[in-house]
Amino acid sequence: MNTTRTTDPDPAPLHGKVALVTGGSRGIGAATALRLARDGADVALTYVNGKEEAEDVVRRVGALGRRALAVRADAADAGEAADAVERVAGQLGALDVLVNNAGVGLLGPLEDLTAGDVDRVLAVNVRGVFLTTRAAAARMGRGGRIVTIGSCLAQRVPGPGATLYTMTKSALVGLTKALARELGPRGITANVVHPGPIDTDMNPADGPNADGQAAVTALGRFGTADEVAGLVAYLASADYVTGAEFAVDGGFSA
Ligand code: NDP
Repeated sequence: MNTTRTTDPDPAPLHGKVALVTGGSRGIGAATALRLARDGADVALTYVNGKEEAEDVVRRVGALGRRALAVRADAADAGEAADAVERVAGQLGALDVLVNNAGVGLLGPLEDLTAGDVDRVLAVNVRGVFLTTRAAAARMGRGGRIVTIGSCLAQRVPGPGATLYTMTKSALVGLTKALARELGPRGITANVVHPGPIDTDMNPADGPNADGQAAVTALGRFGTADEVAGLVAYLASADYVTGAEFAVDGGFSA
């Protein structure tokens, strides 16, 4: 007799875990913070300008019965990025999941991008990710999870004007693969998620360049922050997935 046993999925796979989402006051970061809380995690988030928005996310996480903490920390500041990790681990007692989400987008022709632009975007999108990850990895034990938000542009660049931003997001692929090798023996995974065009303040679905972006996807539409958060949540609890790139891009890179 063929017996197939099914088990219901765990409704709270992150119960007892502490997660930190950088740039969690708005957009993909806020959706991810709420999704991780729904999956059972206590959640901390960083922000820079959006104090009220960050407090609103904290309130909504609290309403889900989870502990929540907002820390003002500029990812462009080398000291603040690492200090945020220490504050979170100190106040919430541990750090199990890091979502490197904070990022800035700066597009434009090569000749218009200044050395200051390069420094600024590298500081947030690359150096901040590196330093936050380094501080978090020092705090994580077995089962630690690092999920970094890259971009579909790291897999396919459909037009001009994306040199600087794409360079920074491509760097995160190299970081992730090397992290997987270095942290794997400690039972810590590292993966990178490449969103396609996602409707947020950074890239509104009714913005001037939106139609062209939607047209490059196979599905012909923008994605939502919740659609990205679902994949991040999966990776936050997956055991045998590391060093990998995942697109949630509606077929942008197909
Ligand atoms: P938003 O601009 O909507 O939100 C950005 C978030 O990051 C805010 O919470 C903001 O906080 C925070 N943030 C910005 N700068 C810093 C900083 N220096 N230090 C700490 N936090 C900061 O962006 P998205 O949600 O769209 O993007 C999130 C990530 O997804 C980024 O890494 C982006 O590159 C990536 N991405 C987005 C895509 C899209 O189409 N939307 C496509 C591909 C990748 P505050 O409000 O307090 O300033």
